[in-house]
Amino acid sequence: MSRTPSEAEPGRIAPLSVLPVFYRLGGKRALVAGESAGTAWKAELLAAAGAAVEVYAPAVFDELAEVLARSEGRIRHVARRWSPADLAGAALAVADAADEAEAQAFRDAAKAAGVPVNIVDRPAFCDFQFGSIVNRSPLVVGISTDGASPVFAQAIRARIETLLPDGFRRWAEAAKAWRPLVQSLSASFAVRRRIWERFAREALARPGDEPTESDRGALVAAAAADRSTVGSVVLVGAGPGDPELLTLKAVRALQSADVILHDDLVAEPVLDFARREARRMVVGKRGRRPSCKQDDINALMVSLAAGGKRVVRLKGGDPLVFGRAGEEIAACRAAGIPVEVVPGVTAALGAAARLAVSLTHRDHSRRLQFVTAHSRQGRLPDDLDWKALADPAATTAVYMGKAVLGELAQKLVAAGLDPATPAIIVEYATRAEERIFHASVGTMAGVLAEEALEGPCIMLIGAALAEARPAEAAAIVEEALARAQA
Ligand code: SAH
Repeated sequence: MSRTPSEAEPGRIAPLSVLPVFYRLGGKRALVAGESAGTAWKAELLAAAGAAVEVYAPAVFDELAEVLARSEGRIRHVARRWSPADLAGAALAVADAADEAEAQAFRDAAKAAGVPVNIVDRPAFCDFQFGSIVNRSPLVVGISTDGASPVFAQAIRARIETLLPDGFRRWAEAAKAWRPLVQSLSASFAVRRRIWERFAREALARPGDEPTESDRGALVAAAAADRSTVGSVVLVGAGPGDPELLTLKAVRALQSADVILHDDLVAEPVLDFARREARRMVVGKRGRRPSCKQDDINALMVSLAAGGKRVVRLKGGDPLVFGRAGEEIAACRAAGIPVEVVPGVTAALGAAARLAVSLTHRDHSRRLQFVTAHSRQGRLPDDLDWKALADPAATTAVYMGKAVLGELAQKLVAAGLDPATPAIIVEYATRAEERIFHASVGTMAGVLAEEALEGPCIMLIGAALAEARPAEAAAIVEEALARAQA
């Protein structure tokens, strides 16, 4: 992931188009002049931030009437045009000017009175601008594009809104309320810092919870007792590769992790969501490669969590599908480590979405089955239920099937499945490298051999797959979309 220039060169700040400052308006006078909807909303915004607002407008107009009715006396209407004398002593001034001459006059008067000024929609006359706001007061996020595109800023605001659950408001309030206590502990700077780090991790991990008195106690006690406290493990589904398929919970877990243990199946763009300070460790155990044994992974995970770390165990797809999650959960439970699971999009469902095909069908697919073609010994498991797998009214997703696809196809046909049944191979589903091959049960092993597929492959088999959009068509649509966006 690219870093901002200020991160690339420690100690230097990259040029800033504007300085974001957070201005306390409580009890201060703010002056608003003009007769537009814009001025009425600005008056309401300034009042929400605690200012005593005066609106200078010869008459009350509709939007102002609405805002006044809601303002509980914090907005005063002055029924005349503004005059330069009104600006004296104001903390800031906002006007909607009819023309440039009025904008200039208002700006000059504000400057003479030493008051920072904003003229609605006239950036050249402004000392300051209003950004887009994400409000979780006392937590406030302001967004500016320096006037380049307010619509772009609003889109970014919408994105940030989804990342900041409403519960952060309560955590920010708690931080405010608890601050004097933490300051009074006469603890060292390092300990106080650890308290707030722990607080931030709790807030990121449990945004929906109301922070309680016992959280406060635990926070202080844990910080005092320092690092010996127990951490936790979260098994997180990374999805098949496209980072947009991560859940919000997964993103939050990644952003509050101390350590991330991930499979080599996990795509790099997903890891870009990790907290920068988090330590990342690959614990891949890809078939037929020197690898980390499951017991080693369990032991590492448990010992990190026992040492107080918040461990994210990041697994491709969904953690509870062919991921040996059961053993990892059992290891945590045995060691008394709290363990949680965040689901992810499993490979079969990621692939189906790319094909825009329904895996179930009211007439010819009433059952959906996920099967592994990989036994403990690395062969086709000999206890598979062939009758179920050859059911013509089922859709089957085959995981880890590359090495044994020919044998699997033969056994399916021997068990009665029509060799003409549609079978689709999706390599690197949802990733940039994705490739899709349409075949049938009879031909799928041949296709696999011919194409020498290196990446993870999911095989989807069943009559329902006849509805899948051919890969060529998908490619054409993608290309057209890419061209339209360029
Ligand atoms: N927990 C994972 C599955 C792990 S088993 C999940 O829910 O998807 C590993 C197998 O998953 C691979 O051998 C392959 O069959 C399949 N797989 C995982 N990611 C894939 C991807 N992006 N494209 C195709 N198949 C994938």
